[in-house]
Amino acid sequence: MSIFKNATFYTTVNHLKDLPPTRAEVAFVGRSNAGKSSAINTLANRTRLAYVSKTPGRTQHINFFDLGHERFMVDLPGYGYAEVPEAVRAHWVQLLGRYLQTRDSLIGLILIMDSRRPLLELDRQMLNFFRDTGRPVHILLSKSDKLSRSDQQQTLNMVRRELADYPGVSVQLFSSLKKTGTEQVEQVVIGWFDA
Ligand code: GDP
Repeated sequence: MSIFKNATFYTTVNHLKDLPPTRAEVAFVGRSNAGKSSAINTLANRTRLAYVSKTPGRTQHINFFDLGHERFMVDLPGYGYAEVPEAVRAHWVQLLGRYLQTRDSLIGLILIMDSRRPLLELDRQMLNFFRDTGRPVHILLSKSDKLSRSDQQQTLNMVRRELADYPGVSVQLFSSLKKTGTEQVEQVVIGWFDA
């Protein structure tokens, strides 16, 4: 049942014009440091499939991983990294927007947000970019091990409430450290690919 376990590196691109043609892909996006690389590695059960970056935001690659059966996972550049000049940050937000709005083979989006600081402005912007496509978004509230049980539940409820107006959005808790929530993500993504 584990769709991510046989993931292999496929290609890296720096420009949207170089995106490889795919039939179906699921993209992972999130603020820099939200725990995206860790989540990808945890789901793939690999220590270094996606790089946990020491200097986040420096290199802006779009990495493709082959999941088999003509299905791909896309690791998008993290946004909002404070030490990158504003103009560069804005440029990448724009590129992400173009990708999210125009990529026909993108069947669903996994949005990773630190469960201690969910729904910051750029997170909402990503949701808005993707909204008009009518395709589903699944949110991982990452690093959930850093919250108490009751805070986890409260955050989950708050995010669900806040996103009640967004169609096709689902939310769950996730921890790469504790490896919790992996099966739930897998079920969602398998559902998208099989739809
Ligand atoms: P990315 O920039 O979104 O790819 O984030 P990373 O995966 O590189 O993680 C950013 C930081 O958060 C690193 O120091 C990770 O060790 C830490 N981190 C990631 N996931 C978890 C988690 O589930 N629990 C805890 N406690 N820390 C995490």
